[in-house]
Amino acid sequence: MLVKVKGVLMGERRDKEENGLRAAIPRSWLDKIQAAKNEEIKCIVLDENLPLLVMLKNRLIDIKKATCSQLYSVEIEKIVQRPTCYFKWESEYYFANFEWDLINVIPYECTTETYLQSLQFKIIHRYFPCNYYLHLWKLKDSNRCTYCNATDTLSHYFAECEAVRTFWISLKAWFVRIFEFIINFTALDILLGIPTDGKSNDITNLNFVMLFVKQYIYTCKKNSIPIDFYNFQVKLKTRMIIEEYKYTMYNRNLEFMEKWSTLADSL
Ligand SMILES: [Zn+2]
Repeated sequence: MLVKVKGVLMGERRDKEENGLRAAIPRSWLDKIQAAKNEEIKCIVLDENLPLLVMLKNRLIDIKKATCSQLYSVEIEKIVQRPTCYFKWESEYYFANFEWDLINVIPYECTTETYLQSLQFKIIHRYFPCNYYLHLWKLKDSNRCTYCNATDTLSHYFAECEAVRTFWISLKAWFVRIFEFIINFTALDILLGIPTDGKSNDITNLNFVMLFVKQYIYTCKKNSIPIDFYNFQVKLKTRMIIEEYKYTMYNRNLEFMEKWSTLADSL
């Protein structure tokens, strides 16, 4: 029996909905479904009594046990390409060993601040606006550093410029005092951070400080103000107080102590 609802017969409406849903399926998906029918069981078992299976990393597993992030990562892996910046880094620093998986997670392990993560993303993918790139993109007449007139490449901007070299020497001496280990602060250390398995609090602290320094250098150079180590320490201390407050709000004081106390107490 057909029932009239808002002027449309139910049976008619169901047909329209079904047709609408079918029409909404992208052509490429339909092609895949058609192709899957012609292959051996690959990803779907259409039987109500059997679990619906999906192929995840060469294993068929019940779709109910698969997480969204697992399904998402499998789909992403199909289309992902190696970023072109990797080739550039590897040819410029041919003597170094790049562990890209570890390098990419550094900004996410050492901070939750998105503006810092975003800065590091720009550096890794080499589209940070130093004068070298601005000139390349025809946005600036000169590719020279405004502080010392050398070519303002990424490594120059953050590590080799006369305006920042003294700063890194002071930071190195300070780090040796509080953490009792020596980091050379090479241009590569500064630009990409120190890869770690995430278990070393000291390295995580160091990576956070280096990222915070890069943001500080960027702010100073953008506003043409001196890059001063003591001024930086004041800013870092303020940042640590905010961090401690955030942890305290969620009753995570102990976690803050374990993770940040060595750095926070030294300021
Ligand atoms: Zn310079």
